[in-house]
Amino acid sequence: MAGIYLHIPFCSTKCHYCNFFSTVSLKHKDEVLKALKKEIVIMKNYLGDETINTIYWGGGTPSMLDFNELKSIVNILEDNFNISSDAEKTMEANPDDLHQKKLEEIFSLAFNRLSIGTQSFDDDILKKLNRRHTAEAAVKSVQFAKEVGFKDISIDLIYGIPGLSNEQWKANILKAISMEINHISAYNLTVESGTALDILINKHKYPKLDETQSLEHFEILLYELQKADFEHYEISNFAKNQRYSLHNSNYWKQEKYLGFGPSAHSYNLTSRQWNIANINKYIDGINSDLPAVENEVLTTENRHNEYIMLSLRTIWGMNIEKLQRDFGRKNSDIFKAKAVKFLSEGKMKIVNNCYILSKEGKKFADGIASEFFI
Ligand code: SF4
Repeated sequence: MAGIYLHIPFCSTKCHYCNFFSTVSLKHKDEVLKALKKEIVIMKNYLGDETINTIYWGGGTPSMLDFNELKSIVNILEDNFNISSDAEKTMEANPDDLHQKKLEEIFSLAFNRLSIGTQSFDDDILKKLNRRHTAEAAVKSVQFAKEVGFKDISIDLIYGIPGLSNEQWKANILKAISMEINHISAYNLTVESGTALDILINKHKYPKLDETQSLEHFEILLYELQKADFEHYEISNFAKNQRYSLHNSNYWKQEKYLGFGPSAHSYNLTSRQWNIANINKYIDGINSDLPAVENEVLTTENRHNEYIMLSLRTIWGMNIEKLQRDFGRKNSDIFKAKAVKFLSEGKMKIVNNCYILSKEGKKFADGIASEFFI
């Protein structure tokens, strides 16, 4: 199992909370796409001869690319990788890019999954986040996607937004459920350093985030989605009929992946590397056959901590036998001893040798995982 990630670093506007690498300037778009295609060829042996099971186009906003731009990249991927015939092929998309013709084009390129950046079905909240689409566009994008033939549709929602009442949040969730999609990703708003949101809060032009309110939103989310038969399979992800995001699941299961484009990360089980988050340096590096890449060789401690952190966020939990096999008896004994506290507090349970966070434990997932780090 291996995945490919493409980072298309362009957006029409910058959302207030966003710290992904992207630019609203399209000045270097052609050069970036040319470099990205060259990078695909240069890096084609990074994963050995692994079959590719998932391809994920993220960013940035890949749905901003036109048909010919998308097609030329799809062709190069197909020419250079052994892509499984039933591979999951996801495109992240902004609702206002998803008009009927655009969706037909995307569908014709064999994309079989959409991840739509809906964020909210409330125009005032969308404005507060500096999203460029409207609630109406968000609804229409899902309708059009279904009409065109997409079966796997995910939407993103954001909660914990100042001014978003519990009632409004519940209404957002119910709206999402009513759209009969099979996947929802819901993220707690966080303030990342250097974002517009961070600056606005520091200038007292935006209220500070309220942790208690976020927790209430999280509880409403779990309650409503469970009632609607969504499985909470990862802290921020919910699926119906086991239509999990395979690409993201592979990250959480620490499978190999290869990223293309500025700031994209790659992982081959022993090391992680990432492209420079700078358009000009990325283009120059690829053009001179010296990609601007940073590399981190993962220590046993890094791999141990990542395994614990990622697995505890999922419904499958942390397998104690795997921990012992990969990291030794001593570390699995330490884990078991530390877990006693969380088991007795009802924040964790054991199912088939897997330590899984309970509903209560999920509220503190990152904090609990960090207690097990070495
Ligand atoms: S569309 Fe996505 S990548 Fe672009 S600024 Fe908004 S959140 Fe960031």
